[in-house]
Amino acid sequence: MTLPSSVHPPQRVLLGPGPSVIDPAVLSALARPTLGHLDPAFLVIMDEVRGMLRQVMGTENELTFPMSGTGSAGMETCLVNLIEPGDPVLVAVNGVFGTRMAEVARRAGAEVTTVEQTWGRSFSADELRAGAGGKSFKLLCIVHAETSTGVLQDLAAARTVADECDALLLVDCVTSLGGHAVHLDDMGVDAAYSGTQKCLSCPPGLSPISFSPRASAVLSERKTPVQSWYLDLSMISNYWGSDRAYHHTAPINMLYGLHESLRLILVEGLEERIARHALHGRALVAGLESMGLAPRVAAEERLAPLTAVAVPQGIDDGRARSFLLNQFGLEIGGGLGPMAGNTWRIGLMGAGATRHSVTLCLAALRAALTDQGQDPGVDPLMAAGEIYAS
Ligand SMILES: *Cc1c(COP(=O)(O)O)cnc(C)c1O
Repeated sequence: MTLPSSVHPPQRVLLGPGPSVIDPAVLSALARPTLGHLDPAFLVIMDEVRGMLRQVMGTENELTFPMSGTGSAGMETCLVNLIEPGDPVLVAVNGVFGTRMAEVARRAGAEVTTVEQTWGRSFSADELRAGAGGKSFKLLCIVHAETSTGVLQDLAAARTVADECDALLLVDCVTSLGGHAVHLDDMGVDAAYSGTQKCLSCPPGLSPISFSPRASAVLSERKTPVQSWYLDLSMISNYWGSDRAYHHTAPINMLYGLHESLRLILVEGLEERIARHALHGRALVAGLESMGLAPRVAAEERLAPLTAVAVPQGIDDGRARSFLLNQFGLEIGGGLGPMAGNTWRIGLMGAGATRHSVTLCLAALRAALTDQGQDPGVDPLMAAGEIYAS
């Protein structure tokens, strides 16, 4: 048998829902020498990661560190550590990730109540309150940035209703962290998780999590052991804390990557980075609208790092996305669930949130429409340029 050659992936521009474009500085950090997970030099790196993560998440929470695994591992970590069998949990569902939270909570033994919203819309306090139905819950779970639909959730509304039903507030910040303002402490978030491959602009593989003192107390007062051994924070926090007790081998090189990506965020400045995402998101939408592509989400609840647009009548979704990939090396996302086949999801995340990305994406989409006989007859770069000039 002949051996395969070593891996040389094609160069792509990743403007889908994640993984996102990665800064070369992060890629080169990944290639530095692997240390032992208890090496004193590595312990310094861990502490720096925790410190920078707290800044980026806007929290003083002691229990803040990256879990080994992707964003879904962070979701599962938050849920299995806070839920004991029979606990009542309220989950807000307006897309794929709320649906996933409800499923994970059920599997962890919770009595799950869902409050549903049309995909493409966020929840008001009244809508969440109606879903709570005057009952008490241990947790209220909600997605800050629903990547499946492009919707941004107002967390103040969620906090208000969580207070009314005596619940801890658990928030999915996978796509918002590093792209929208996420101030866990100011917003009164009790438990949060994110992922490295969205606006943190790092490869997939780690999931930052944070527990408030209240959530940590719920963890330490559990009557039953955490159902998952691997995700048990009572043990993992001994490795990230001063004991440094071995639990599982930390993914050393991934942590170098996260260290570099957090550093780049703080060098740029959080406010500046969020403003950058907002600017390029607006320019993209202006260009798309000028070509007649309609955003799926109203302007006031639209995400900056992820824009969902309707695929125009008569355009074949799969053919268009293959065209973008083959002709331009450009990846955008298709729709999920009820949006499959009729929605494109365009991510401008982290290092991908640039004017260059906006230009490439608009020009390539125009070519994709023309390829299927629907020349939009306008240059979308003009409309985007007006945003940049204003
Ligand atoms: C991507 C994503 C997840 C899941 O993360 P994985 O890294 O795919 O496991 C969860 N929630 C949201 C909002 C996401 O965008």
